[in-house]
Amino acid sequence: MQQRIRGPAELAQFIRPTDEEARAIAALSERFRFVITPYYASLMDPEDPECPVRKQVVPRLAELADPVGLADPLDEVAHSPVKNVVRVYRDRIAFCVNNECALYCRYCLRKRMVGDEEWTMKRAELQIALDWIRATPEIRDVLLTGGDPLVFSDERLEWLIRALREIPHVEIVRLGTRLPVTLPMRVTPQLCEMLQRYHPIWLNTHFNHPKELTPEAARACDLLTRAGIPVGNQSVLLAGVNDDVATMKALCEGLVRMRVRPYYVYQAQLLEGTAHFRVPIERGLELFRALRGRTSGFAIPQYVLDTPYGKVPLDYPFLKGREGDTVVMESFDGRIWRELNPLD
Ligand code: SF4
Repeated sequence: MQQRIRGPAELAQFIRPTDEEARAIAALSERFRFVITPYYASLMDPEDPECPVRKQVVPRLAELADPVGLADPLDEVAHSPVKNVVRVYRDRIAFCVNNECALYCRYCLRKRMVGDEEWTMKRAELQIALDWIRATPEIRDVLLTGGDPLVFSDERLEWLIRALREIPHVEIVRLGTRLPVTLPMRVTPQLCEMLQRYHPIWLNTHFNHPKELTPEAARACDLLTRAGIPVGNQSVLLAGVNDDVATMKALCEGLVRMRVRPYYVYQAQLLEGTAHFRVPIERGLELFRALRGRTSGFAIPQYVLDTPYGKVPLDYPFLKGREGDTVVMESFDGRIWRELNPLD
């Protein structure tokens, strides 16, 4: 964390930044800062600006040309009963415990807050949020997110999880973290030993491309799963990064080999500065349709659009309709099947 890359000169030790990338780093320094871990930078192709790892974290001037992007497309501020708690559903919350990540993804949904001092959570503010959870008995599932909860020290994270465990109605604690991808050495045996004292702990991480499935990342996920923590993956569908069938299939099958369940793939939001990442939903539907029947069912994540009203599953319509007592459906390879299915 201390050795993170913060400017073009440091970045040049890993890649040859194009003029456009260098100008974008300067032009965007006030709007959404640029920080990368040396580990993640080492995964970049030094010569190819189209490298899918590089595209996720190195600024582009295209970020300045997005006429429709919003700062808070999910209206999270309006869903926040206390600072950094987002409640869309009755029984679960996202608790943004800090504003720091190991690096800043250019398409981050919370770019309005990550890396911004205003959103730092002091101990007293964490306590206010804990008090709100304790006073809200419907909350059975707490997602610790941010920012990234694994940026906390083990001691601070344990303090927080222990406090949640002392609330009788909190049944599940989930961690949303990209550190297994961006700084996998953060996942230590000591961390896992601490976490497993507070089960049930679940964890979702965020791999977007097969290049990120390194031996270091596999070791981090292995330590977590051996500690009894189910590890899932949430990707974002990103143009030029993972929006083709071969890449998505390689990502999902690689995750399964690491015993990480491909869980969600999010449609990129109407978020400021991200027009160049968005893929039309119809293309996304075709992509996931093409995976069906061509890999294990549990290797296919649910494609979803997050909205201020909650997640909407985006499914290719394999069910085509009804003909009398039969329903008509399409198989994965386009053949039509009629299943007898009377209504009464
Ligand atoms: S790791 Fe997650 S929260 Fe942090 S910048 Fe990336 S997408 Fe945003």
